[in-house]
Amino acid sequence: MTVPIRNHDIAELRRLDLAHHLPAQADHRLIASLGGSRIITRAEGSTIFDGEGNAILDGMAGLWCVNVGYGREELAKAAYDQMLELPYYNTFFRTATPPPVKLAARIASKMGGHLSHVFFNSSGSEAVDTVFRLARHYWKLKGQPQRRIFISRWNAYHGSTVAGVSLGGMKAMHAQGDLPVPGVEHVMQPYLFGEGFGEDPDAFAARAAQAIEDRILEVGPENVAAFIGEPVQGAGGVIIPPEGYWPRVEAICRKYGILLVCDEVICGFGRLGQWFGHHHYGVKPDMISMAKGLSSGYLPISATGVADHIVAELREKGGDFVHGYTYSGHPTAAAVALANLDIIEREGLVERTREDTGPYLARALATLNDHPLVGETRSLGLIGAVEIVREPGTNKRFLDKEGEAGPVVRDLCIRNGLMVRGIRDTIVCCPPLIITHAEIDRLVSIIRRSLDEAEPILR
Ligand code: PLP
Repeated sequence: MTVPIRNHDIAELRRLDLAHHLPAQADHRLIASLGGSRIITRAEGSTIFDGEGNAILDGMAGLWCVNVGYGREELAKAAYDQMLELPYYNTFFRTATPPPVKLAARIASKMGGHLSHVFFNSSGSEAVDTVFRLARHYWKLKGQPQRRIFISRWNAYHGSTVAGVSLGGMKAMHAQGDLPVPGVEHVMQPYLFGEGFGEDPDAFAARAAQAIEDRILEVGPENVAAFIGEPVQGAGGVIIPPEGYWPRVEAICRKYGILLVCDEVICGFGRLGQWFGHHHYGVKPDMISMAKGLSSGYLPISATGVADHIVAELREKGGDFVHGYTYSGHPTAAAVALANLDIIEREGLVERTREDTGPYLARALATLNDHPLVGETRSLGLIGAVEIVREPGTNKRFLDKEGEAGPVVRDLCIRNGLMVRGIRDTIVCCPPLIITHAEIDRLVSIIRRSLDEAEPILR
């Protein structure tokens, strides 16, 4: 179906944006100085269009989420049909509706192993909050209420609610709102390029895992509830740990009886070429948080996957787990998620990412390694990064402009027709899983051109 292109009064929208709208995670002074936000009016496949008529290749899949690409009529139809039948009902009154029940079973079949149940929420942050509350509740039920501490990593991103920011390791976010809440410990991240440059990857993995064990011993293993980590850190700068990291982390958690939690909000639903990121690393978490790719961003929905032994505790001990949201198990959002999973399966997007487009992106990014501003390119599945440095082949940054190179190159990329993110001195990309080889070629050639244009600005 072709959707008619609607005409918008962009100047008026930008005026209203400034007059009344506070965009998320934004520098409001900067937006005001630019005369308002860029208005994105429509999208198709892997391309977004702005109000000025620019076509921009969406190298970020929206915000790491539009896995099946834009313009999927069957998702719109799933929402339409469900809204007519039953737009909303809750799960508070010992009630459920068909879509979330079916979706829970479907997700359970994808998670596999002992992850048999899911708890629904609307956002990734809420899925993480559910982890936070359920882990502590579980340990209370188990008769170990002192197990309250969460171990996380610096530079992790686990969302923007109080628990999400606290578990996350973003210092700038901690500084706003007097966070983290008590009971969260942060340790080093497995960022080989930034914190172990030149080190043997496996030795570095052992060192990063050891930091977790050291902290557990410092605070007392009997006080630790859980370790939480993104299989690949997304918003931290696409930090892909060496392969030996996660198995070591799992072994440490098992050694001390600590819950292992994987935050799959970005890595889930095919991003790393497996249904979930932890499948790639071969570990078995006790809980996972997921969102984004679950509905490909078409409607807000998230879920927390929960292992059998935690569910058994809830069932055996009974009593209310007094946690949940108005929109937990939202039938329309769940119906869209089910249709989205149908698309991912039917089009083989997980396998395609693993066997075709993921390796293709890795090879394409690697062609940038000869650029004088590139220190490293890396990717896993369809998530990747380019490190911008002063001297090629090193991790030396532009000293007087540390942290500025990413935004400079990002702005040039957008001007050249590609949406990517600049995180400090790193350019990251996370395109829709439907991206074609030709679009990957374009993505990489726009990054190269933008790096060329950035040289005189940065040097
Ligand atoms: N966890 C991870 C790993 C994320 O990347 C994000 C968002 O980017 C979140 C949690 C928070 O999700 P949301 O923005 O939907 O609350």
